[in-house]
Amino acid sequence: MEVTSVGVVGAGTMGNGIAQVFAAAGFGVVLHDISEERVRAGLAAVEKSLDRLLKKERISQADRDATLANIRTATELEALAGVDLVVEAASEELAIKAQIFQSLDRICRPGAVLASNTSSISLTRIARETTHPGRVIGMHFMNPVPLMKLVEVIRALQTSDETYRLIEELSRRIGKTPVEVNDSPGFVSNRILLPMINEAVYTLYEGVADAEAIDQVMKLGMNHPMGPLALADLIGLDTCLAIMEVLHEGLGDSKYRPCPLLRRMVDAGYLGRKSGRGFYTY
Ligand code: NAD
Repeated sequence: MEVTSVGVVGAGTMGNGIAQVFAAAGFGVVLHDISEERVRAGLAAVEKSLDRLLKKERISQADRDATLANIRTATELEALAGVDLVVEAASEELAIKAQIFQSLDRICRPGAVLASNTSSISLTRIARETTHPGRVIGMHFMNPVPLMKLVEVIRALQTSDETYRLIEELSRRIGKTPVEVNDSPGFVSNRILLPMINEAVYTLYEGVADAEAIDQVMKLGMNHPMGPLALADLIGLDTCLAIMEVLHEGLGDSKYRPCPLLRRMVDAGYLGRKSGRGFYTY
């Protein structure tokens, strides 16, 4: 199958970035969210990101204009009826994703591929919501999408080889590097990253060092571009907690228990950058 048009469900942080990379690669994109306000905000974020790239001379004015011209917006899922691929990037809740996949199953043609950008929910579980589960796959982009090279391509138990090969090839066409991963809690990226962040929170909780010192050790000593606590603030502490809970429950090992300090900070509404306060103040 030749993919020429892509639907993106959810125009938030990840969805607008995903729409941008497909549009920049020449695909026709339908960017969907639940309200006019959200799709407008998503499109404005794409514009801002393209303007930044233009200013840095990474793209031309013509590239910027062509990318924007490739994106149209929608608030009804029915607008995705004709697309060849859907990438779902709605909020990280099984109930929301289950409902979206049930609707896409009904709306999209049987040959269309249905991908999810979920960072922790089982693709096998999501695929179960559809009548053609072989066409369901994980396409896990990294944040910020236009800059990060990796796409973790996650095979649900039901994913067909044909679907996998198509997404692998498509990831390359949009300038990304696909890496094949099987469906398992946290996949590879968050299985390894989040326990490290959680351990950094434990280190702070137990008074081994303060936040700046912990981040300095990992930056200067391990050459990490960002310390784990600053990274947790960027990801969002609620998201970090949710992923740790998926690992803890899904793998059933106490080594994945979320640090009590992480839980307490989320209870207090200290969610990191997005709330203005996390391990640091913004
Ligand atoms: P976000 O909160 O920025 O955006 C989510 C968007 O989904 C919102 O605009 C919301 O209105 C929309 N939405 C909610 N219900 C919807 C529905 N029924 N139909 C259509 N749109 C709906 O979240 P995000 O950070 O962009 O995350 C989206 C997905 O990407 C999640 O599955 C998340 O786990 C995953 N992800 C996030 C990151 C990250 O660093 N933020 C990285 C990789 C993957």
